Amino acid sequence: MPFHVTIIGAGVAGLTAAHLLQQHNCSITLIEGGNRVGGRTFTRQHERHLEEQGAEFFHPAHHHRLRAALEESGLPAQDLKDLATLWVSAGKGKLGDPVHPEIKALCRHIDTDVALINPHRWITPETAHLDRPFTEYLAKHPASDTVHSEFLAWTGTLTGADPQEFSALGLLRDFKMFGTTEAALTAVEQRIAGGTMQLALSLAKPLMPQIRFETRVVAVHEAVAGFEIITHTDERISADAVIITVPFNTLHQCQFPGLFPALAQASRNRHTNRSRKRWFDPETIFNPRIATDPTSLSYLDVTASAGCIIAADEISGDQAAAHLDLPIAPMASARSHSWQDDPLAAGAWMTIRPGQALVLDDLQRWNIQNPRCQVAGGDVSPIWPGWIEGAIAAGTSAVTRLIQSTTH
Ligand SMILES: Cc1cc2nc3c(=O)[nH]c(=O)nc-3n(C[C@H](O)[C@H](O)[C@H](O)COP(=O)(O)OP(=O)(O)OC[C@H]3O[C@@H](n4cnc5c(N)ncnc54)[C@H](O)[C@@H]3O)c2cc1C
Repeated sequence: MPFHVTIIGAGVAGLTAAHLLQQHNCSITLIEGGNRVGGRTFTRQHERHLEEQGAEFFHPAHHHRLRAALEESGLPAQDLKDLATLWVSAGKGKLGDPVHPEIKALCRHIDTDVALINPHRWITPETAHLDRPFTEYLAKHPASDTVHSEFLAWTGTLTGADPQEFSALGLLRDFKMFGTTEAALTAVEQRIAGGTMQLALSLAKPLMPQIRFETRVVAVHEAVAGFEIITHTDERISADAVIITVPFNTLHQCQFPGLFPALAQASRNRHTNRSRKRWFDPETIFNPRIATDPTSLSYLDVTASAGCIIAADEISGDQAAAHLDLPIAPMASARSHSWQDDPLAAGAWMTIRPGQALVLDDLQRWNIQNPRCQVAGGDVSPIWPGWIEGAIAAGTSAVTRLIQSTTH
């Protein structure tokens, strides 16, 4: 029986789903609002070096799906520069040590809560008490002010958000994905050689004739047989099934059967991550550095010819540079992309607020019960949300559920 699936969004989740569906002999249409594939993997060429405006790092020891996808696409990985990290407090730098005995003790303490987490569920009765602002959660753990602020600085590299705004449960779920808190803070990172967007480009290559660019979906309705997808130009496209992979912060802009009121409200409120990368030409080679303000981080690219600051969108480049004890002058010509202002993303990587895990758990149940109309972006994946690994997991799970539903 011919089976036609429409996939909304040509980021890694949508491309993974499309690739797998073709292997199952389904016909597909991929609808993408922008003029390129990759979504929040977005590599730009600048003179002789590549600048990642979106995703950049992965952890080869933990991200098995991504490693397998790279192997299948023949894409090599690349090590990062091995420099000691400085952590910067009040504009003064000193060497950072994530496994300082006091930090280790704090990690072990947090691990008693990490042990309660079921990685396949956003939230359970056993973990509901962890769904509160991270600063509030951390305050109950015995440690000196210095250790607390150093710990916030390290965890800021994972969350990229304000610890008063994001949920402790979201961060502890991340620790669970790595195994333990210390494993999360010390995991070795790599990049995709030639740029992170290579993965999306490679997945998209055989799918190009099926991708429709610059077409934004505004609604999905149930039809007599299957679904009707409505675009911003009011074009109507029929499909037997739909997989929606748009970012969490934009979900409310698209009407679809699973958009229950609490989900629409949570999406309107956005998750907490407003990170922006600013690439600049450094005056000298510098060590990677993390500020006690957990949203600030800076490092050099692999060629050491470009520097990058990651800080909240609302902080100016100058402020972030001063905070990180870097010269402000190069920031005048910094190159960046505001994910916050990008209507197809409306935020950077998924970092949940208290209360959003409950909504995401309901959405996961919806996906299981409605395999022909799923929401399956990396943001809503209970496995590795906010990571490329999560986008691959989301696309894969959606296809598995859909195919099972067609064979029963
Ligand atoms: C600054 C930044 C740094 C990051 N760093 C890392 C990192 O180091 N490592 C890591 O693993 N991950 C990182 N991430 C997260 C990672 O990029 C995402 O988790 C992953 O790319 C999400 O993939 P996706 O396919 O689910 O969503 P997306 O990549 O957002 O793809 C969704 C697609 O849907 C399209 N779309 C949106 N609305 C519509 C619509 N209405 N109609 C049609 N199309 C639509 C969008 O244009 C987009 O192409 C980072 C993200 C950012 C922004």
